[in-house]
This record gives sequence, structure tokens and C-alpha cells, in this order.
Amino acid sequence: MTIRRDIRIAVVGASLGGLSAANVLRQLGFDVQVYELFAKGFEERGGALGSVDLGLLRRIMGGNLNGADRAIKGHGHFYGDLWDYLYQGLRLESVRFGTDVQTITDARSDRPAIVIDGKPTTFDVIIGADGGKSTIRPFVTQQQPVYSGYTAWRGLVPMNGIDGPPSGVRIVNGIRYETLGFPCAGPDGPLWNCGVYMAMPYAEVAAPTRNRQVGSAIRDIPDWFVPLAKALFGERNAQFWADCVKHGKVTPHPIWEFAADPVVAGRVALLGDAAHLSSPRTGAGAYTAMLDAYALGTAFNDASSVPQALANYNQDAVSRARALYDRSRRAGLAFAPDRGHSVSPTKVLDHLTRSSDALDWAAVR
Ligand SMILES: Cc1cc2nc3c(=O)[nH]c(=O)nc-3n(C[C@H](O)[C@H](O)[C@H](O)COP(=O)(O)OP(=O)(O)OC[C@H]3O[C@@H](n4cnc5c(N)ncnc54)[C@H](O)[C@@H]3O)c2cc1C
Repeated sequence: MTIRRDIRIAVVGASLGGLSAANVLRQLGFDVQVYELFAKGFEERGGALGSVDLGLLRRIMGGNLNGADRAIKGHGHFYGDLWDYLYQGLRLESVRFGTDVQTITDARSDRPAIVIDGKPTTFDVIIGADGGKSTIRPFVTQQQPVYSGYTAWRGLVPMNGIDGPPSGVRIVNGIRYETLGFPCAGPDGPLWNCGVYMAMPYAEVAAPTRNRQVGSAIRDIPDWFVPLAKALFGERNAQFWADCVKHGKVTPHPIWEFAADPVVAGRVALLGDAAHLSSPRTGAGAYTAMLDAYALGTAFNDASSVPQALANYNQDAVSRARALYDRSRRAGLAFAPDRGHSVSPTKVLDHLTRSSDALDWAAVR
């Protein structure tokens, strides 16, 4: 016995995780509707992925990449191209943009409903692929993401005429500051995709917005940013970051960490950043979201009932979320050894530029 193919599945969130899930479930013949808060597609969305597993992408797309292996590079890949590729795999009307899923009703029933503009619509299954600050998550677990004690400042800038990418490490009082980058394809030509990892106390970062697609915590680049790059990594590096601020985009990404257990409650399931949050240092957040989606499809294909499929998915996804979290924690120990008490970047700058003074580390925490 297999699961009836006429069941209706809602996917909340149309980023890499949500679209991967929608592709996998649609290929199995299920009736899938995707809801995305953002008003339009992400084909031009900046941001690069360190690497894309083309073998996994092939499995998500039902075994056929239709030339995507030429369009999508395995490394230094632009987010929008991958997104667009996943989007083209769907019946396009099955994704509704500009749709805020406000809540779920009857979450524990066999027919839970998502609420849009105050109106409930029932489904057989609801998938929360709605990112770090998921609306769906509280219907599955009360666990909350924890701030890691450090922030990744990401820079994207056209390569043309800009010397880069930066690369440097500085250990200050046992805390690692690191900058690195790689070239990636952008919508209008090649880009430098770069980052600086630095400790920042919780008080200096805003809580995450709904998810990483919708705005960043801090709007303006603080005055101390380029001087600190200079003090930590030297003149050439600081020049890169000054160019990046001027000609490109620099955005802070406070790193939150989380591993949901369970990822399923009743007929509501989480995947991707809704189920686990990790440092970009793991390079595996999007990859794990896509892997979750594939595992969800496998579970629905192999099981004879929806509860059995979701139980199998839960078992698989919880261990993946935990493994990613552990990797994230190991990476984080170098950047913020005590995640509850990080050192302020302005204090570090002060210390490095007044090197004759001994810094009272206890006082800066
Ligand atoms: C700086 C940085 C660098 C990274 N680099 C890499 C990398 O190199 N490799 C890698 O694998 N991963 C990387 N990641 C992680 C990766 O970007 C995320 O793990 C990935 O985007 C998660 O995908 P997702 O689909 O689960 O969620 P998201 O991409 O967060 O998408 C969630 C979607 O849900 C929508 N949504 C939210 N709430 C609602 C609602 N109520 N109703 C409807 N829609 C809603 C949002 O608008 C959004 O489109 C990086 C992350 C950061 C911050």
C-alpha cells in the first residue's frame, strides 16, 4: 500500500529548502502548494553558496538536470541561479508570492490549516520551510535558537577593478578573527564573495528578522568596521573592505544555532533553517535544507501512511540537524569561546590601536 497521491501538502517558504521539497513531492504526484512571504522570486538575489552538490540536485529534480550542470557550478555559485533552477522545475502557479502564512489552526488534527489574511485553508500535511525565525516552528517544538556569540559580515562586490579576495587570520587573546573570500558568478558578472567572522556581544546585534531573506539586523556599516579590518588584517585587506562598502554590499549575519528535536508534530514538519541553524562556517545550511527535502520525499515514497512517512522523516532529519549543530558548535568555539560573553569589536579595535596599553579583558565583556 502506498500513500494516496491526492493528498494536499502546503509548503511554507519558497527558498532553497521549500522549493526542493516542492519539487520532490510534486514528482511523486502529490498536490503541493508553496507560500512565500516575499513579493517576488529570488532569481536575482545576491549571496553565494560555497558549493552545490550537483548529485543531490539531480536526485531532487528526479534524475534529470536538463543542462543545469552546465548552468550551475559546483563551487562559487550564485544563490539566484540555483533558486531559479528549482523554481523552473515546478508548475509556476503552485508558488504564491507575497503571501504571509500567519499561523496554523488545528495543528494536532489530521487536517491542519494555514491561516492567510485571517482565513484558514486545510491541508493533509504542512511543511515549515520558513527559515530561521520560522512561524511554523512553535507548532512543532518550543526550543529556541541561541546566539553563537559571533557574527559573519558578508561582502559582495563586483570583481572588476577590485583587488581581492581578502584572506587573513588574527588571534586576539585566544579569540579568532578571520576573513576569507572566493569568486562567484553574479547576475551581472563575477563577484567577490567574502566574509569576516568576529565576536560580537548579544547586546550589539539585533534579534534575527523573520529569516535571512528579509533584511538584515543592522542597516548601516558601523564606523569601526573598516578600521578594525585594518587593525586585524592589515592595510590591503582594509582597502578591500572599504571598496566593498563603497561599491558593493556588506551585511552582518549574526550566527544563531539550533537543532530541533523533534522536527515533526502531528502532520506539521520542519525542514531547512526552520529545523536547524548553523554557522555559515559549516558551509552546509542550504545543502542540509536540500537534503532534508530529499529525505522527506523518500519517506513519502517508501511509507504506506502519512504518519509513518513523517515518523521516518523525523528520525532521519533530527540526526542530521544534530550533526550540523555539533559542527557549528565546534567552529564557534574558535570565534566565541564563551558564547554568552563575547568581546565588543570596538573594544578590540581600541586595544589593537593602543597596543602599548594592556587590555583588561574582564572589563570588556
Ligand atoms: C552569510 C551566510 C552564508 C551562507 N553560506 C552558505 C553556503 O556557502 N553553503 C550552504 O549550504 N549554506 C550557506 N548558508 C546557509 C543557507 O543560506 C541557509 O541554510 C539556507 O538559505 C536555508 O534555506 P531554507 O529554505 O531552509 O530557509 P531560508 O533561505 O531562510 O528561506 C525561508 C523562506 O521562508 C519565507 N517565509 C518566512 N516566513 C514566512 C511566512 N510566514 N509565510 C510565507 N513565507 C515565509 C522567507 O521569505 C524565505 O524565503 C549561509 C548563510 C549565511 C547567513
